[in-house]
Amino acid sequence: MDFDDTPEEAAFRREVRAFLEAHARRKTGTDADWSRGGVSEDPERAAAYLERCRAWQRTLFDNGWAGITWPKEYGGRGGTPAESIIFNQEASQFDVTTGFIGAAQQLVGPPLLRFGTEEQKARYIPSMLKGDELWCQLFSEPGAGSDLAALATRAVRDGDEWVVTGQKVWTSEAQHADFGILLARTDPDAPKHKGITFFIVDMHSPGIEIRPLVQATGLSHFNEVFLTDVRIPAGNVVGEVNGGWAVARTTLASEAGMIGGAGQTTTFQAVLELARACGRTGDPIVRQGLADVYTRERILKFHQMRMQTAIMHRRGSPPDPSVLKNFFTQSLSKRVDLAIALEGAHGMLASADAPQDGFWQKQHMAQFSARIGGGTNEVHRNMIGERALGLPPEPRDDKDVPWRDLPKS
Ligand SMILES: Cc1cc2nc3c(=O)[nH]c(=O)nc-3n(C[C@H](O)[C@H](O)[C@H](O)COP(=O)(O)OP(=O)(O)OC[C@H]3O[C@@H](n4cnc5c(N)ncnc54)[C@H](O)[C@@H]3O)c2cc1C
Repeated sequence: MDFDDTPEEAAFRREVRAFLEAHARRKTGTDADWSRGGVSEDPERAAAYLERCRAWQRTLFDNGWAGITWPKEYGGRGGTPAESIIFNQEASQFDVTTGFIGAAQQLVGPPLLRFGTEEQKARYIPSMLKGDELWCQLFSEPGAGSDLAALATRAVRDGDEWVVTGQKVWTSEAQHADFGILLARTDPDAPKHKGITFFIVDMHSPGIEIRPLVQATGLSHFNEVFLTDVRIPAGNVVGEVNGGWAVARTTLASEAGMIGGAGQTTTFQAVLELARACGRTGDPIVRQGLADVYTRERILKFHQMRMQTAIMHRRGSPPDPSVLKNFFTQSLSKRVDLAIALEGAHGMLASADAPQDGFWQKQHMAQFSARIGGGTNEVHRNMIGERALGLPPEPRDDKDVPWRDLPKS
């Protein structure tokens, strides 16, 4: 592995640091960090958090740091993947985040940049990078999650418009979104992967009803979205009609890599501080748990560095995104399990009654959704088997059957 910056990269890193020093303060790793506030069920705190995320996105845009690898003509910086990595490395030390705004950009930007028309890119990308318009991803349905290509939301052409009816579920942050990327079935007679179209939908359109789902954490991160005769202009198709699966794959690939490469709200250092605060660092079982958490954090870092070396220095091959995603979520589980164990009986309390305002309790419950979102750990294991280990693929005997004839749940 090679971690040394080239002279150009070192100069870029200095520029990034100067920007961050001027516009943000360093993380303390405590409750004082506003960027930790995304897990509050208090509506006022949650709204204030979203506004700070939006304000930080605007600061990035105004100073030329939004969309580092995205083209300049759409408001990006026109930089390299190496510069994007350097920026994220430096920013991770500061009390800043774009929260779900940045995550949604990673889902929406790649398909629009690759398959979108000039009009679509010019209309949607600058306002996304400014944080003026927020986005969500309308892919999963009650009968289509891991088997996403089974989706049943229908879009029927009517003159210059498509009329869409169906139900989506687990739609993160739909309640705040102005636009969504939507998959709908446009040819039920084609095999399931071949009759899907990728649309941009205005979330304020008549016929869209958003019902928040309350999670075990008390938060409503995701929603059910019902679409009834929603009219979408024909110009909002991204890519080819019935060719939406290829467009969607751009989003799915970006999603797994994004989750696996994400920074962590819960770190080994934070668990160690908790062990110290609880007076448990002398306990041999706790020490063993801390060593386990530390080792996993290092191994995850190793995978991320492999990715960095492959991208920045074109040496070696990057790890499979599914390996990153699964290792990330497993390490998270180890950290939060240990943290709750450290709190002992207090670990059973919730919210304001619990230590640190219930921070570890929320992280503990959020681990389960982390193992599901962006594709479940089991499905990513299948991909590791097929792509990384070259094992025989899962039987897919419904691949060539018209979607109309497939059994539906
Ligand atoms: C926090 C969070 C945020 C999300 N945000 C969004 C969003 O913004 N937009 C969106 O469209 N979706 C979103 N999702 C949905 C997510 O992509 C799906 O939940 C996920 O793909 C799994 O689908 P499912 O829930 O239908 O489970 P299922 O596919 O029904 O799976 C049920 C169980 O069967 C297992 N299983 C299924 N198929 C296989 C197989 N072939 N081999 C082995 N095991 C298998 C799964 O691992 C799982 O344990 C989100 C989910 C979460 C948890």
